[in-house]
Amino acid sequence: MRSRTRMLAVAVGVSTALLAGACSSSDSAAPVTVTSNVTVAPTNAAPSEDANGRPVQSSSASGGSATSGSADGAGSSTAGSSSGTGTSGTSTAPSSATGPTTATSSSAGPAGTGSFDHPKDGVALPDGFVPTKLKAGEKPPQFIVVSFDGVGWDEKWQYWFDMAKKVPFRFTGFLSGTYMLTEATKDHYQGPGHQPGASDINWNLPADLPVEINDLNHSLDIGNEVGTHFNGHFCGAGGGDSWTAADWNTELDQFFALIKNYKANNPTQQLPTLKVTKNDIRGERTPCLEGHIEDLFPALAQHNMIYDSSFTRRGISWPTQSPTNKIWQIGMAEYPMHGTITGNTDLDPSQRTQHVQITMDYNFYYSQEKAGVDGLPSKEQSQKDMDQVVATYNDMYNDTFNGNRAPLILGNHFNQWNNNAYSDAIGKFVQETCGKADTECVPFRDLIAWMEVQDPARLAQLQAQAPELGKTTGGS
Ligand SMILES: [Zn+2]
Repeated sequence: MRSRTRMLAVAVGVSTALLAGACSSSDSAAPVTVTSNVTVAPTNAAPSEDANGRPVQSSSASGGSATSGSADGAGSSTAGSSSGTGTSGTSTAPSSATGPTTATSSSAGPAGTGSFDHPKDGVALPDGFVPTKLKAGEKPPQFIVVSFDGVGWDEKWQYWFDMAKKVPFRFTGFLSGTYMLTEATKDHYQGPGHQPGASDINWNLPADLPVEINDLNHSLDIGNEVGTHFNGHFCGAGGGDSWTAADWNTELDQFFALIKNYKANNPTQQLPTLKVTKNDIRGERTPCLEGHIEDLFPALAQHNMIYDSSFTRRGISWPTQSPTNKIWQIGMAEYPMHGTITGNTDLDPSQRTQHVQITMDYNFYYSQEKAGVDGLPSKEQSQKDMDQVVATYNDMYNDTFNGNRAPLILGNHFNQWNNNAYSDAIGKFVQETCGKADTECVPFRDLIAWMEVQDPARLAQLQAQAPELGKTTGGS
């Protein structure tokens, strides 16, 4: 078992990460700092959760229910219990699972083949999405791309599977490869510059490993995308910011080995067959958003990957492709939070209103509640924080829907930080927004396919538009 101290170290690593690379890990007890109006350098995190936002005990907690769920029903369980979705349809049988946007039942097949590579105007992709070339004068649909890092938590999988039964919603899960190993088999992984069996996040529990495989399979079956969050979640010293192209290549080689060799690596377990193959993995988000483009992108290209979602940008703007490696750069936005922060009184009052930050769960948590360093906020405060995040998502949506129509790139972890405020916030936004007119909630690969069928001149026009910056007249 890893110690609590180790977990804390991990969490700090995560926090530094979400800072668009502006952080150092040496700022042990520094208060919130703001650089260029963007919150940077969180200094602490909820000690009860690992770097991917999973409760440290979740393994054992879910392990109990997981054991009963072997074959096909991986998570028959308690889906949605965290927010009372009221849907009891927790079956994970593929046949019952077609969400509203899964147009083709054949999508249950090899969804990740190269079929996404050469999209054609008006021709459905394997997941059912139909990329369509804009006609003259026609506005692009409003894309909303929701993604989660880590994705090693059955209860959260079930929550999002249920959501897809209510609204047309599909998403991308960036898998941490270490969830394909357990404490007993961890030596099959060795991160660049680290010892075999070292990781900054948990290994899976033996009982949870088959559940995770079934969740990943089901997710593919209903038209979601699987990408990679790499493996050991190393941040700060020894993390992605210090890695060379060779290091990233090694890390990716290992990720692909982990999703291929999971049976041989875990020989004492009876495991279902994982449907996710290397052909499915077309993009990534780095742990803590670390890394340098000049090192990371060549490694992506070598692994036949086509997009990155690690590097953030001020405002909401259309993705572009890197000139050399042709990697689609689809990072999250730095954008002003709606209204005024009420929880974090350490934040300078001039910075509490319309506070600009990376629009990711942990960053919200850091800005609003110093990432829990003072303990868990009251339920009432967490509710206020959640409302503020939903209002921020709505600001972003309205801004771009009525403006440049650039895709909203929303990233969360599977987590329950701040009394589950951030899971609830993105769930509420998805439920209220996906299904609106001219709005498409799809994974990254569908957005990319759509961009690739456009007339290049029209796409260039979209990309040339100014970013939507939001209201920044307040404290930013
Ligand atoms: Zn992460």
